[in-house]
Amino acid sequence: MTLPPGVPASNAEVFARSCAVIPGGVNSSIRAFKAVGGTPYVVDRAEGPYVWDVEGTRYIDLVQSYGAIILGHAHPAVTGALAAAAAGGTSYGAPTPGEMLLAEEISARVPSCERVRLMNSGTEATSTAVRLARGYTGRDRIVIFHGNFHGATDALLAAGGSGVATLGLPGTAGVPAAAVSETMVVPYNVVPQLDESVAAVFVEPVAANMGVVAPAPGFLEGLRAECDRVGALLVFDEVITGFRLGTGGAQERFGVRPDLTTFGKVIGGGLPIGAVGGRREIMETLSPLGKVFHAGTLAGNPLATAAGRAALAELTPAVYELLAGRAARLSTVLQAACDAAGFPATFPVVGTLVGMHFGSALGNGTAPTNFAEATTTDEAAYARFFHAMLAEGVALAPGAYEALFVGLGHTDDVIAAIGAAAARAARVAAAA
Ligand SMILES: *Cc1c(COP(=O)(O)O)cnc(C)c1O
Repeated sequence: MTLPPGVPASNAEVFARSCAVIPGGVNSSIRAFKAVGGTPYVVDRAEGPYVWDVEGTRYIDLVQSYGAIILGHAHPAVTGALAAAAAGGTSYGAPTPGEMLLAEEISARVPSCERVRLMNSGTEATSTAVRLARGYTGRDRIVIFHGNFHGATDALLAAGGSGVATLGLPGTAGVPAAAVSETMVVPYNVVPQLDESVAAVFVEPVAANMGVVAPAPGFLEGLRAECDRVGALLVFDEVITGFRLGTGGAQERFGVRPDLTTFGKVIGGGLPIGAVGGRREIMETLSPLGKVFHAGTLAGNPLATAAGRAALAELTPAVYELLAGRAARLSTVLQAACDAAGFPATFPVVGTLVGMHFGSALGNGTAPTNFAEATTTDEAAYARFFHAMLAEGVALAPGAYEALFVGLGHTDDVIAAIGAAAARAARVAAAA
């Protein structure tokens, strides 16, 4: 691709110019290199497992838009659907068949989603789910788990996972105490005792924003039972796990049916999207049928629904099996590379998700089970590994608590190349 006129073929120059107009040079704070040091590569284009920066350097990409991309970048099924959709207009302000079809597809694959409302981001989905849970139950209290991340939703920013943990902030400035005064933060993988003040429990059924932490046996079932005991709603935040762990997401894998589910990322095929799905009587509390307001100018956008449908159409059970095999293989090659270099690290796998944990605080090979354990990761060691991998042409997320996203583009050859790069990078990182 040729750069737009006037754009220099220099990461440093483009980023400096961006910083002069965009706070920190990024439109999502986790993209900054604050946690690992240095300045970001600036992406020009991407295809399959690769991204190219504006200098023409190619990287094997394990960021994959933090999980929004699962077929690989610029997959022809998605780009073709987008071109066709765009030719018919990009937003109307009236219902479309495309949103019906995507909602039908989500509902068919995730049976707990008897009704689905589409919106523009995972953050919008979680904030809508908070309002809906409170409106439906008439209660205010929300329970969340330490280290789970639910997007930039005020009521759920009492303690964050993803970016917030990396930046070392307990919550964030700008959220009034009142916005989180009804938010309780409890440790992951322990079923909390609830009472009748609780509207909803929000949980990442696999915690994918603290290095990928699996739910302990019985944890999700225990949450279901405790919510039922006090009449609280169980909300699965499947923004990452939805349509990535398998056809029916984490709820299918673990056999626990939530009342509400939030989606994002994969369901948009790389375009901005979010969704809330759930039990009919709860979902019909949303306006215009019910008393809980929700609206969005671009909600159910025809480009996003076309890209999402194209992506879901490719995601057959066989594809999930393939991706799970690749995830396991990625973990194996990374583990072998770090072990051989004497660089303590662990790469836990849950289905198609791969996480990471650095240092020997938990003992080599031991995966964290909660936020306190996850945050024993050696962030300085990760920063060294991150930069050594980047120098080897492999792009990881610039934060120690992110997942490694495997997609259809990561063929066995590509994973072998990642392994070879990691063998060299782990020696560099161990020696530093
Ligand atoms: C990414 C993410 C969100 C936020 O989604 P956005 O589309 O970035 O607003 C919410 N929950 C989880 C679990 C996520 O990983």
